[in-house]
Amino acid sequence: MRIALGSVMHESNTFSPLKTSLDDFRQQQPWIYCLMCALLFDEDVIRHHRARRTELGGMLEAAEILNMQPVGTISATAVPSGPITAEAFSFFEENLTGRIKQQGPLDGVLLALHGAAVAETVDDVEGRLLERIRDIVGADVPIGITLDHHANVTRKMVENADFMIGYRTHPHVDQHDIGKKAAEILALLIRSNVKPVTVMKKLPMLLPGESSPVPRQRLVEKLKEIEADPEVLTASFFIGFPFADIDEVGPCSLVVAKHDESLAASPADELARLMWDMRDQFSLPTVSVEQAIQELPDTWDAPEIFVDMGDCSYAGAAGDVPFFLDALLRHEVKDAVIAAVLDKDAVDRCIQAGVGARLTLEIGGKLDRINGTPVRADGTVQFISDGKYRGRDFYLSEVDVDIGPAVVFNTQGIDVILVTRRITTYDPALLRSMNIEPSSKRVIVLKGGLLNQVTYGKIAGRIRPFNSPGFANWDFSKKTYKKIPRPVYPLDQEGIRS
Ligand SMILES: [Zn+2]
Repeated sequence: MRIALGSVMHESNTFSPLKTSLDDFRQQQPWIYCLMCALLFDEDVIRHHRARRTELGGMLEAAEILNMQPVGTISATAVPSGPITAEAFSFFEENLTGRIKQQGPLDGVLLALHGAAVAETVDDVEGRLLERIRDIVGADVPIGITLDHHANVTRKMVENADFMIGYRTHPHVDQHDIGKKAAEILALLIRSNVKPVTVMKKLPMLLPGESSPVPRQRLVEKLKEIEADPEVLTASFFIGFPFADIDEVGPCSLVVAKHDESLAASPADELARLMWDMRDQFSLPTVSVEQAIQELPDTWDAPEIFVDMGDCSYAGAAGDVPFFLDALLRHEVKDAVIAAVLDKDAVDRCIQAGVGARLTLEIGGKLDRINGTPVRADGTVQFISDGKYRGRDFYLSEVDVDIGPAVVFNTQGIDVILVTRRITTYDPALLRSMNIEPSSKRVIVLKGGLLNQVTYGKIAGRIRPFNSPGFANWDFSKKTYKKIPRPVYPLDQEGIRS
C-alpha cells in the first residue's frame, strides 16, 4: 500500500505588504511545523520528519505500524508573513502535483497543510492544491489532510479532501497525534468500503488568533462527545485566521461521518451553535502599556513578561514595530530586555562597530511603516551573536537553532535584541545564548503569543498580553476588510445570526 506524503504550510497575513518568497521557504525554519527544516523533497521529507514531533512525523509513525509505504513529495513551510508570491505558489503547485503524478498509482494521499495560506494570485491555496491533486488521483483514491487550529477552511478543501483533522490545542502541541490519527483514518478508508461525508458549518465571526483557553476546553469536550458515535470518523473546530481578507475567512465546525451525511450535519450544527454562543469569551483581556508600566512593582524577584501580540511574527506581523522600546524609554524603565526587533540595518551597523562601541541607531519601524516609526536610541553594542544556539524548551528542545546574525544593543538600561530574520522568541535559551539571564530582569518584552506563557511561565511573575500595534492587532474595526462576507461578528451588530 503506497501513500504520498507531503506538506505545504503557511499562515498568510494579507494585511502585511511583506510577501513570502521562495527564499523564505528555503531558509531553515525555527518553526513549529518542521523544526529547522528547509525546503525538502522526496526521500529527504521522510528522513527529516521521521521521529520528529511534527504531523508528518506522526503520519510516518502510524504508516509503519499500519504497513503503508510512504512516498515523500515536498515539505515546505515559512514563518508567517504576507501572502506567498505567485512564483512560490506555482513552484509548490508544480512540485507537489508533479511528484504525485510521477509516483502513481497511489493508494492514498496524506498532506499536512496549514489552512490559512493565501498567495498573490490565489486566495484559497489549500483548496487549489487539493483540487489539482484530486484531478490527478481520481475520485477513488482517498485524500486526508491535517490543518492548523487557525485554518480558514473552504468549500473547495471540503469538496476535494475525503477528510480533515485540525489541532485541538493552543499553543499547538498535538501535531504528532493529529498526524497519527490522519494516517489511521486513511488506512481505514483504503482497506474498507467507508465513503466519508464531511459537513462544515462556517460561522460569520472574526476571532482573535490568540484566544482564551476557556471556550476551547468546552469545545474539545464537545468533540469527544461527537466522536463517541461510531458512525463519526472525526470532528474538529477551527478558530480561523482573521488577518486574511478573503471571502472564506473565519471559524467553522466540521464533522466527518463514515457514510451518512445526516449523522455529520446535526453534530456539526451543535458544535457551531456552541462556538457562536461563546463568541464573547474568546478574546483575551489586555491592558494599555501605560497602565502595565504604572503597575510594575518597585522591587521584584521575577520578571514581568509583556507579550507583544500585535507585532507577533507567528501571526504574520513584521516583527519590527518598536512600540515597547518607545514606551520603556519614555517611562525610563530599566533592567528590561526586548526580544526582538527585526532590523537588518541596525544589526549590520552594530557588527561593523563591534562590541563596546557607542552609537546612535534608528531602531525598527522600517518594514511595518503603518504601525511603527523608527525609534532613535543612543547606546552600546553589548553582544554579537552568529544566531546559533541549542533550543531548550518546547518544540525546539535539543534542536540546533540558527536565527542568523543578531546583536544586543543596550540603551538606557534596556537590552534590545536586534535580529536579521523573522524569528520565534519563546525559548529563554535564545536570551541566554546572548549572555542575558532572563530571570534577573524586571521586564521582558516578547514578540509572540500564548506559547510564551508556557515557556516563560516557569521563571516569570506576571505575564501580560497586549493587543499592541502591528499587522496582528485584533481590533478588527481598525482593519480595512474588502472581501470578507458581511455582516460579521464583532464588526456588525445587526443582521447576523442569533
Ligand atoms: Zn495556529
